[in-house]
Amino acid sequence: MPPPDPLPGTAYGCLSPARNALSVAEPSWELTGPPETPTRRRGAQYSTRPVAGGQLPESPAPRVLRVAIPSPLHRLFDYRPAREAPACGWQPGLRVRVSFGRREVVGIVVECRDRGELPLSDLKPVLACLDDTPLPEDWLWLCRFTARYYQHPLGDTLHQALPVLLRQGRALAARTRERWALTAAGHAAGSDALPRAPRQAALLEMLRQHPHGLASQAILAQSFSRDQLKALTAKGLVERHEEPLAAAPQPDADHLLADPALPLNREQAHALSALHERLDAYHPCLLEGVTGSGKTEVYLQLIEAVVGRGRQALVLVPEIGLTPQTLARFRKRFRVPVVALHSGLTDHERLDAWEAAASGRAPIVIGTRSAIFTPLARPGAIIVDEEHDSSYKQQDGLRYHARDLAVARAHHHGIPLLLGSATPSLESLARARRGDWRHLPLTRRATRHAPAGLELLDLRGRPRLGGLAPPALEAIAETLKAGHQVLVFINRRGFAPTLACHACGWLAECDACDARMTLHRQPPLLACHHCDRRRALPESCPECGSIDLRPLGSGTERTEETLAGRFPKVPVHRIDRDSTRRRDAFENALAEVRRGDPCLLVGTQMLAKGHHLPHVTLVVVVNADAGLYASDFRALEQGAQLLVQVAGRAGRAAHPGRVLVQTMHPDDPHLRLLAERGYAALADQLLEERRAAALPPFRFLALLRLESAREEAASELGRRAATALRGWLAERELAVDCLGPVPAPMERRQGRYHLQLMLSADKRSALHEASAWLTAWLEATPEARRVRWSLDIDPQTLS
Ligand code: ADP
Ligand code: ZN
Ligand code: ZN
Repeated sequence: MPPPDPLPGTAYGCLSPARNALSVAEPSWELTGPPETPTRRRGAQYSTRPVAGGQLPESPAPRVLRVAIPSPLHRLFDYRPAREAPACGWQPGLRVRVSFGRREVVGIVVECRDRGELPLSDLKPVLACLDDTPLPEDWLWLCRFTARYYQHPLGDTLHQALPVLLRQGRALAARTRERWALTAAGHAAGSDALPRAPRQAALLEMLRQHPHGLASQAILAQSFSRDQLKALTAKGLVERHEEPLAAAPQPDADHLLADPALPLNREQAHALSALHERLDAYHPCLLEGVTGSGKTEVYLQLIEAVVGRGRQALVLVPEIGLTPQTLARFRKRFRVPVVALHSGLTDHERLDAWEAAASGRAPIVIGTRSAIFTPLARPGAIIVDEEHDSSYKQQDGLRYHARDLAVARAHHHGIPLLLGSATPSLESLARARRGDWRHLPLTRRATRHAPAGLELLDLRGRPRLGGLAPPALEAIAETLKAGHQVLVFINRRGFAPTLACHACGWLAECDACDARMTLHRQPPLLACHHCDRRRALPESCPECGSIDLRPLGSGTERTEETLAGRFPKVPVHRIDRDSTRRRDAFENALAEVRRGDPCLLVGTQMLAKGHHLPHVTLVVVVNADAGLYASDFRALEQGAQLLVQVAGRAGRAAHPGRVLVQTMHPDDPHLRLLAERGYAALADQLLEERRAAALPPFRFLALLRLESAREEAASELGRRAATALRGWLAERELAVDCLGPVPAPMERRQGRYHLQLMLSADKRSALHEASAWLTAWLEATPEARRVRWSLDIDPQTLS
C-alpha cells in the first residue's frame, strides 16, 4: 500500500482479522487456555543483543518494511528501507522516521518482507532508522497481542505503550550521574596528606566516610566545588564513575533484604510454598484474603524468591494504591532498587524507569495500569494487587484491562502470576472455582482483630442530618468520646446531589447531559460531574421564580458541615477529589490522621481503598443503595467490593472495629447475604445469577459505542451496522448475538447522543471474529467517519 493513504478506500474484504498479523507466531485469542509450550525469551533482550559491528546480517536485506504508524487506521504501511541499514540489520522493533502525508512521524517496523502489494518503485524510503537495536521483543509481543485482542490499531497501540520520549524519537538510553570515590591512593593517603589545601583535605575525609562514593550533587551540596574535585582527581586520590540515574546497581546487593521477612502464619506459609512449587512455569494463583490478612507479605516473599533467582518481578497496583506508604514498604524490605511507574513521573523519569526495567537492571518494578507495558529483560513473576479494581481497565482510547493482559503476559513468559484481593472479581473467582487457577485463601487477619461485620441501619422513616440517621450520630459521638477516629464514607462529592425548587419541583439539570447538576458550596456553584459544565447558583427558580431553592440529598461537603457543627471540638477532614486537588493535601491530611488523635474523616472512595488508618474504629456508610442498585450488571459486584473495602478500614490495629451501613433496603437479599455471610457467599450467589442471565464470566461481551451530536447520524449508523453484522453472522453461521442499537443508559452526555450495540457469544473466538469484522466494516463505511465509534472488548460497564 502506498504510504500515505490515510483513507481506507480499500474494500474491507481483504482486511481479515489477520491484517495486524506479523511474522512471528500469532497470539491466541484466549487469555488463558491449556498452557502451550511457552515461548521463553530470557536474557536482556536489547542490551546484550550483539550489535554486528559493521558486519552484514545473515539474512538478505528485505526490500519492504511494514511499518506501524500512530493513526486510527487498522493497517500497516509499506516503506523501502533507507539506504543505510542499522548495524543490527533490518528487524521488527526498530523505530524509524518516515514521511506520512505531509508530516514526518516515528513508526515502528513490524515486519520485513521481500515484496509488498505495490511495486517497489511506488514506495517511499524510510527517512532514518532511530535505533541501533530493536525495542524489546517481549514488549513488541505484548503490544501485538493487545492490538489483536482489543481490536485496536497496532500503530496506536505501540504508540500508547511507549514512554513519551521514545514516541518522539529519543534514544532508549539511561541518563547517568557522576559518582566520586577514593582511589586506592586516596584510601592510603593519611589525613595530613594535604596540609596546604584544607578544603581538599576535608573533601577527602568526607569521601573516606562513604566507601561507595558520593554523587556530585551531594558533594556540591556540602559547599565543595568542582575545582576541588578536579584537583583531587589530578592528584590521583579521587576518581569519577558514571552510574545510571534509575536503579543503579547497589554496592551490597548480595544481601537482597534490607529488612528481614516476617515469619509467616500457617495460611501465608501455605500460599508461599504453593507459589514456590512452580517458579518456572505459568502458574496463575488467586490469593483471596481479607484486608490485613498479610497478602502484601506474601507478595514480598514471592518477590524475594524471584529476585533471588536473578529474575525480575512486576507488581501492578491500583491507581489509588500506589501511595508513598506502599512504595516505602517495598523499598524498606529490599536492598535492590525498586522502580516505580506512576502518573507523577516526568517524561525523563519514565524513560529512565522503562530503560532500567528493559535492561534488567531494575529487579522490582511497581506501577499502575500502564506499567503492564513495561518490558522486562528477565521476567520472573507478575503480581496484581487488588485485582478486582476498576482502575485496571482503561476506559477510553486503547480499552485494555491490565489484569487480563497480565494473564496473557505471564502465560507467554511461562512465569507465575499472583492476583490478590479481599474481594476478587467474579471473573477471577470463576476461574479459581473451575480449578483453572490455584485458589490460595487467607482467612485470618495477621493482626489482632477479625474484620468487622456489616451492621445494616434502616433509614426508612428516620430523620437525617447531613445524611446521617440518629443511631449513626450516637455511635459517632461514643467513638469520639472513647478517643478513637471515625470514617464516614459517602460516595458523592459536592454539597448535595442537586438543587431543587420547593415550590414547583424544578431540579437543576445539565444542558448537555441527561443528568442533574451537583451543588457545591466551596466555592458555591452548580457543576455537572459528567461533562464538567459549571453554572452560577440561581437566585430564584428559573421555572417559577420562587426563591425557595433547597439542596436535595447529601454530598461530602454537607456531611462535613453537619459533623463540624455537631462535634465542634473535633477536627473534620474531608477527603475527596475537590479537597485534595493539591498533590500533597491528601498526604498531609493522612499524616495528621495517623498521629491518632480523635477526629472525623469524611471521604469518597479515595479514602476507602488501600490506606492503613490504624486509629479508625467506626466506619459509617452514608448510603449503600446508590452503588448497589445502579442499573449496570456489575453494580452489585462492584458495590459489594467497595463496601467490603470501606469496612476493612475499621479496627486495623489495637481496637476492634464497627461498621454501620445505612440503607433504605435493609431486607434486600443481596445486602443481607453480604452482611450476614460475607463477600464470598454473595459472590457465589452473583455467579449463579450471571450464569442464569448468560452474562460474564459465563459469556463474552463486546460493546460498540456510537456517539454523535446528531442523534439521527448515530442511530442510522447503528442500524446499518447491526443489519450488516447480522447478515454476515448468518452467512458464517457464527454463534454471536447482536443486540441493539439501543440508547446508552445516559443517552445525552456532553451534548452528544450515545448509542450502543452489544455483541455476545459463548466462545471468545467467535466474538473476536465478529468484532474484527465489525471494525473492518466500520472503517470501510464512509458514514462511520461522521460518527465517533469505539469497540470495547470485555466492557466493564454497559454505560
Ligand atoms: P494485606 O496486604 O492483606 O492488607 P498486609 O500484608 O499489609 O495485609 O498485612 C497487614 C499487617 O499485618 C501489616 O502491618 C503486616 O506487617 C502485618 N503482617 C502481615 N503478615 C504478618 C505475619 N506473618 N506476622 C506478623 N505480622 C504480619
Ligand atoms: Zn420553581
Ligand atoms: Zn453535563
